[in-house]
Amino acid sequence: MSARPARTVTPGGPDELADVVRRAAEDGLRVKAVGTGHSFTAAAATDGVLVRPDRLTGILALDRAAGRVTVAAGTPLRLLNAALARAGLSLTNMGDITAQTAAGAISTGTHGTGRASASIAAQVTALQLVTADGSTLRCSAQENADVFACARIGLGALGVLTSVTFAVEPLFLLTAREEPMPLDRVLAEFDELVAGNEHFEFYWFPHTDNCNTKRNNRSEGPAAPPGLLRGWLDDELLSNGAFKVACSVGRAAPMAIPAIARVSSRALSARTYTDVPYKVFTSPRRVRFVEMEYALPRAAAPAALREVKRMVDASPLRVSFPVEVRTAPADDIALSTASGRDSAYIAVHLYRGTPHQAYFGAVEKIMVAHGGRPHWGKIHSRDAEYLSGAYPRFGEFTALRDRLDPDRVFANDYLRRVLGE
Ligand SMILES: Cc1cc2nc3c(=O)[nH]c(=O)nc-3n(C[C@H](O)[C@H](O)[C@H](O)COP(=O)(O)OP(=O)(O)OC[C@H]3O[C@@H](n4cnc5c(N)ncnc54)[C@H](O)[C@@H]3O)c2cc1C
Repeated sequence: MSARPARTVTPGGPDELADVVRRAAEDGLRVKAVGTGHSFTAAAATDGVLVRPDRLTGILALDRAAGRVTVAAGTPLRLLNAALARAGLSLTNMGDITAQTAAGAISTGTHGTGRASASIAAQVTALQLVTADGSTLRCSAQENADVFACARIGLGALGVLTSVTFAVEPLFLLTAREEPMPLDRVLAEFDELVAGNEHFEFYWFPHTDNCNTKRNNRSEGPAAPPGLLRGWLDDELLSNGAFKVACSVGRAAPMAIPAIARVSSRALSARTYTDVPYKVFTSPRRVRFVEMEYALPRAAAPAALREVKRMVDASPLRVSFPVEVRTAPADDIALSTASGRDSAYIAVHLYRGTPHQAYFGAVEKIMVAHGGRPHWGKIHSRDAEYLSGAYPRFGEFTALRDRLDPDRVFANDYLRRVLGE
């Protein structure tokens, strides 16, 4: 999963970074930037020069009238969200956590769930990167548009990002409705649930017919965050504390997992709360897990999830973690998992330390049969041959890579597998 870098550097800006890239080339070393290391793949591993984000942080510009914020590429999303909220602004959509850096999050296509709003990368309006020859390149829809089309989800293959500009909007409130529902109902009503809500997602508990659904929609307010006790019960005790105990028991005694799943999925109850977006979209994730996630054509998701359920039911597998299902509209980024097609994501998780090959392998077979595209930052076994068929614009990305990085300064084992030599 990891490699030992020959050296580690923490440049403070584009000029220092350009020096790093030039010096690495002189020494015959490859270069790889890392974010906070939240990817489950070895996307950021290198035996060359590892660029750490620690000094590439901070808000560089904030244009309230234009609805734009530019951050240094290593800025954690947590800091971005807090700074935006202080300024009365917000991103439109985001994933489950805010630990990642801006560059790391967009480079693998980090996403939440949305009917009309897409991944974090799709909210990017401009980027700056240092390329293999040490020069600095700016791109947007107007400037170097061919680079912009690919570099928003660049897998670290096109250069080192130094700054990222996001479209932002005035801070708004979201009302979250969490509600347990039977799986059959969720799958039968999937299209309506997606169409009827700005952000719909659900968790299905393997070995049961139970789901927890979550619908987030904009509201006039007032803000009504979960009460302290209820918030602690749901977010800390059930989702983290008790869940961790259940996972530990399940790892030691897998036969107990179906019974635990039945009890814990029934312990959920409906709740409604209203808060600023980042507090509604994200939640504490303290139970460590490994994950695989595939994007499918949206219409294929209900059938694919039924196949996953049949497979689990017919197998000796014992799965302690819920399966998460989210959606995204088609976008225009070459290697986005939602590139050119409305998508649904099916994500499978296991408690860290549990062997995942049998479960993930069996789920992956189902996803691949539906034309699935794996999340670039999560476990999968796909290679360039498969991916070139799954992405109509794969050749556009690799041609740009050939032009910007002909000597593969930014290559690593992961990129050799997914993009080719
Ligand atoms: C608990 C948890 C929850 C998660 N939730 C979600 C979720 O809700 N939705 C989702 O889609 N994903 C989710 N993920 C996955 C995560 O968002 C991605 O793996 C993301 O890429 C991690 O960002 P990072 O800053 O840690 O980057 P890293 O993992 O360190 O790096 C990711 C990639 O970005 C590249 N990179 C980093 N910095 C730069 C730079 N400056 N220039 C060029 N390339 C760079 C790296 O080389 C690497 O290829 C989750 C992961 C965890 C552990």
